Amino acid sequence: MSRIAVIGAGLAGLTVAAELQAAGHAVTLFEKSRGPGGRCATRRSAAGPFDHGAPGFVPSTAAFAAQVQDWQRAGWVAADPSAGTGQVIGVPSMNALAQQLASGLRTGLDLRVETHVAALEPGAPAGWRLRLLDGRLDAGHFDAVAVAVPAEQAAALLAPDASLAEAMRLTRSEPCWTVMVAWSDPWTAPVAAWVATDHASVLARVHRDDARTGRPALAGSASRWVLHATPQWSADHLDMAPADVIATLTTAWAKALGVRLAPPVHAAAHCWRYAQVPDARAEPCGWNESLRLGACGDAWHAAGDAAGSQPGGVERAWLSGRALARQIALSVSLA
Ligand SMILES: Cc1cc2nc3c(=O)[nH]c(=O)nc-3n(C[C@H](O)[C@H](O)[C@H](O)COP(=O)(O)OP(=O)(O)OC[C@H]3O[C@@H](n4cnc5c(N)ncnc54)[C@H](O)[C@@H]3O)c2cc1C
Repeated sequence: MSRIAVIGAGLAGLTVAAELQAAGHAVTLFEKSRGPGGRCATRRSAAGPFDHGAPGFVPSTAAFAAQVQDWQRAGWVAADPSAGTGQVIGVPSMNALAQQLASGLRTGLDLRVETHVAALEPGAPAGWRLRLLDGRLDAGHFDAVAVAVPAEQAAALLAPDASLAEAMRLTRSEPCWTVMVAWSDPWTAPVAAWVATDHASVLARVHRDDARTGRPALAGSASRWVLHATPQWSADHLDMAPADVIATLTTAWAKALGVRLAPPVHAAAHCWRYAQVPDARAEPCGWNESLRLGACGDAWHAAGDAAGSQPGGVERAWLSGRALARQIALSVSLA
């Protein structure tokens, strides 16, 4: 049985792992944080959970739409008209989709959480060993490696292939400051989801988490809102103190609605340094046949079904993960 290492348990890495396991390969999935999901993230708090990464996605290709229908039948995602036409969200939270994908993988998946891969080293006589951030060399010996992390972080891991590494270095992700805020009174804004329609300089969009499809009612809970700053404002204020980010975004929100907001019962901020890729690469994924080293994630697969269309980040992660898994399955024999 061939052994494949997948680095990163976001939607792209989970997709590679699922496809390769189904094809009979032995997969080890390395994830630096405490659980799978990556930017399909949910933050727990005393006021309830917040989907503070991707708030949802809109399938655009026929292949992804068919996959989403399967997830919908399984109850892992649901349509959420409150967020906009065609929007789909994880149920009961965005991170639940990744949790379901991870647990739905065939038993035997070796998922190593809190394991940060720092570098790839050649194995002997062939293949790969993984150097971890704490300096240890992982015991595994792998026939192929799939790197499924944001482009800027992938560049270092892909150093053994100078052109793949350069492709990732040239790919730019935009940052996003995100504020999670809750009010205990039954405060209702005139909208449940709001997207800036003018050239707003601070806020890009806002959604009300507790009112979304499939969110369980929490007794006595607050109304929970997630505010996203624009990429430009986020880039200009990467080092701002979280308390100042919270104040700036909530003030901009109140101004946009023309209301006075009471002090919130909960407020937190998170800076996504690599939130979204505005210009993904055209190739479905990256693959070096002789090194048996590949890359996938939202930096890849810019092409949709229709000419000129670009699928969203969640969809690109899935499409490119699937493309890389198929490439690896063609190249690496099961024996
Ligand atoms: C605020 C925000 C809003 C968004 N809005 C939308 C939207 O509306 N629609 C949409 O389609 N997309 C949206 N996105 C983008 C979408 O979330 C991503 O494009 C998609 O989730 C990327 O998946 P991925 O698997 O490629 O990467 P990720 O989800 O980033 O997964 C990579 C994983 O790799 C792990 N990792 C990184 N380095 C290492 C290492 N060295 N060793 C081990 N593990 C490592 C990370 O911890 C992470 O879990 C949004 C993202 C953010 C942050």
